[in-house]
Amino acid sequence: MNKHQRQKLESILESLSKDDRDRLYTEARKQRSDAQKRRGSKSRETDDGERLNRGKRRADPLDDWVLRLVERDFSHKKAQKDADAKPMTEGLVVGLTRRRATVLPSGCDGADLSKHILCRLSAELAGRQQDGIAVGDRVLITELDIAADAVEHEVVSVLPRDSKLARPDSHDTHKERVVAANVDVVVIVVSVVSPPLHPRLIDRYLVAIEWGDCKPMIAVNKADLMPADELDEALKVLEPYEQAGIPIAVCAAVPGDDSSVRVDGLRKLLAGKICAFVGHSGVGKSSLANALDSSLGIATKTVRETDNRGRHTTTASAMHFIEPGIKVIDTPGVRFFGLAEMSPDELRWLFPEFEQFVHSCKFTDCAHDHEPGCAVKGAVEAGEVSAIRYETYIRLFEELRTGGKPKDVTQRIRSDIEE
Ligand code: GDP
Ligand code: ZN
Repeated sequence: MNKHQRQKLESILESLSKDDRDRLYTEARKQRSDAQKRRGSKSRETDDGERLNRGKRRADPLDDWVLRLVERDFSHKKAQKDADAKPMTEGLVVGLTRRRATVLPSGCDGADLSKHILCRLSAELAGRQQDGIAVGDRVLITELDIAADAVEHEVVSVLPRDSKLARPDSHDTHKERVVAANVDVVVIVVSVVSPPLHPRLIDRYLVAIEWGDCKPMIAVNKADLMPADELDEALKVLEPYEQAGIPIAVCAAVPGDDSSVRVDGLRKLLAGKICAFVGHSGVGKSSLANALDSSLGIATKTVRETDNRGRHTTTASAMHFIEPGIKVIDTPGVRFFGLAEMSPDELRWLFPEFEQFVHSCKFTDCAHDHEPGCAVKGAVEAGEVSAIRYETYIRLFEELRTGGKPKDVTQRIRSDIEE
């Protein structure tokens, strides 16, 4: 960044509201700490890295990170403002197609859905739609005069995200595809029977969710299909997750059953939040959303169809509004969300319960695998970290290290959508 650019960005920063500035500083702090973590683990890997960094390893000043964000989010706004002084409106992306976004202006909720504005995407956003904009993003839009009597709206910029649900691009695994933004809770839906409960699958989702800084929750569905005593036994496999502080809701989205009691626990946990339901086909993601709000009428599949990897009933990206204040993001990407492509090195940061121990490992780049003096392994032996979660870590670590796929098909998150 040269001096001139810097001055320009600083003047934009000064003109921003306190809220905007606070938001930028929060994101910048997070980006810097993420970068430090990665850089820290990488530079120790090679002698060269050590030599290059020796003596001048210092954190970038926070201001630089903030200015980069100002450039990303507000330089357009400034340019646009200078050009025609059109006011900007802030809104929430509730629907998205290749070229257009449906935006609900800030302050509107589920009752004002008719106030939505169909906007085209700026050329820059349309060009990098895979990670540039997603349902759940907060955006700035402006009016464009395309003719004397016609107005069109355009999404000019995307505001910083608190969290995201992302997966590797199926054509280029080095790129990521953001399938939903600003998701407060990702509900991992599993069913007790048809299909049977595979706790290992939950681990893979947890890692992918952690990656985007979202919070997980587990919904165990189809409880009606199992006698109470068997159900208690089946739920025991979920104890490690409960101990790890992950909320669990036992539900039954029984078709044709009006007793909403069976999803009440879930409703309470989701109140006021933006959420996304992930999980294998046929576990009842659509049925749960419908049970929470019967007016949604989301098409569900029969188990038979899903066994045949049947047709997908949802194609458009959308956000559903459910009382009390629940927003459910349902997009094809969310439906086929799985384990993001990541390096074994990055995996080490994705098990939050290891964090308080990693600094005590003998080696700073400890992979917590076979290394002597590993504090994480010590914590597992002392019962302070769940042995099951640790095994999961080792299994995923091995899988990423060797580039292999899990042997057991039930542990794979298959992407059965063709892109
Ligand atoms: P999705 O692929 O995860 O969205 O699953 P669907 O919502 O389409 O549900 C798959 C099948 O399971 C449908 O035939 C539903 O009627 C059925 N189903 C979903 N939830 C329940 C439940 O809680 N109990 C029972 N008995 N059947 C359910
Ligand atoms: Zn270790």
